[in-house]
Amino acid sequence: MDPKMAYDRVFSLLEEHHAWFDSSIPLIASENVTSYAVREALLSDFGHRYAEGWVGERVYAGCRYIDQVEQLAMDLMKDIFRVKHADVRPISGVMANLAVYTAFTQPGDVMMALPITKGGHISMGPLYGKKGTRIGGTAGAVHGLRVEYIAFNDEEFNIDVDRTIKRVEKYKPKLIMFGASEILFPQPIREIAEVAHSLGAHVNYDAAHVAGLIGAGRFQDPLREGADSMTMSTHKTLPGPQHGAVVTNDDEKFELIKQACFPGLLSNHHLNAVAALAVALAELKAFGESYADQIIRNAKALAQALHDQGFKVLGEKRGFTESHQVMVEVADLGGGMWAEKTLEEANIIVNRNLLPWDIKMGRSFIDPGGIRLGTSEVTRLGMKEGDMEEIARFFKRALIDKEDPKKVAKDVAEFRENFRHIHYAFESAKEAYAYIRLR
Ligand SMILES: *Cc1c(COP(=O)(O)O)cnc(C)c1O
Repeated sequence: MDPKMAYDRVFSLLEEHHAWFDSSIPLIASENVTSYAVREALLSDFGHRYAEGWVGERVYAGCRYIDQVEQLAMDLMKDIFRVKHADVRPISGVMANLAVYTAFTQPGDVMMALPITKGGHISMGPLYGKKGTRIGGTAGAVHGLRVEYIAFNDEEFNIDVDRTIKRVEKYKPKLIMFGASEILFPQPIREIAEVAHSLGAHVNYDAAHVAGLIGAGRFQDPLREGADSMTMSTHKTLPGPQHGAVVTNDDEKFELIKQACFPGLLSNHHLNAVAALAVALAELKAFGESYADQIIRNAKALAQALHDQGFKVLGEKRGFTESHQVMVEVADLGGGMWAEKTLEEANIIVNRNLLPWDIKMGRSFIDPGGIRLGTSEVTRLGMKEGDMEEIARFFKRALIDKEDPKKVAKDVAEFRENFRHIHYAFESAKEAYAYIRLR
């Protein structure tokens, strides 16, 4: 391969990607778009450096400014989540979870979490490969935990408290992981945590998806509802760089988390992302409440509009959603795989998703019965409730009327011309997917 051609090709593909997203409706619930201030921090020299260890106790020189930035990131984190301790070194949500597994469990211990079919994340998954292999989710395959499941009420789309308490008493887990990748409503933590604590378990809430909403005070408040620690990704509703963090109020438990992170799990910890996280946290502190309110209003409006257009939207009894997410059953229309591909052709970016009853119906993650939508990114682009109705009409044309998705894509691109800028940031004049050229 000609190196200069490959080199040029990378950049032309990057530019094409930017142009595509610029004319699409981004509805992936785990994604967001960062401000230019966050991107500037990501491009900084911090991304070339090492700072092993803790602020003020590094095992590398050259950390004079890095330490001050990391301290700012921790201080903002503690302020926003109203908590005593924060470790901002985990480089992703999975690493944050692994830090908690490492700090509070031994291989062979029992952990309880939701199964992946009901919102659990792969990082909470058991070993499931052939005997003698170590294939599976992080909890089972990497840390050797035995995973037992939190009971779920499919109808309510939430944790079943009574059945879960019985399971906690039966399995006596060392760790319970609350939180989920599919999360429409706050989870009932308090009663289960009380029983778990009485049996000596550590209780963690995985806020990967909802950290931005929690930080803004607009979802639940796990640390005041019985969770001992909270792990998160910093790039889903929290509109920061791809990174992770752990917070806790417990002094002794925090020491264990710190040790798990370093020297346990991290050598470099992506210092440019730590700087970018500090910027994103400052933006969240300044604009988070109106941003989170609009995300939730948009999610409710999108769910209602899709329902009105004839879609099967989950959670109807409880007003569809109280988070950034909307879950839609599309099994009758053509299935999750077909819906995802068709919408992509129509410039609407979503992901197919397992529904709680899919396995029982003989469906798998390859072609599940649902799609999951999230309103974080479209909210950052300035969309409001009326725009959600417009989006629902695009869905109907592509998935119910089975109109040519290419035709829908043209109208989607035109619609997107009204939403070019990033909102809820100090610097909002910049175009969301504009390509930054430094060469
Ligand atoms: C997204 C997610 C994570 C971690 O994701 P990273 O990509 O590693 O940041 C962890 N837990 C849940 C519930 C998630 O949805």
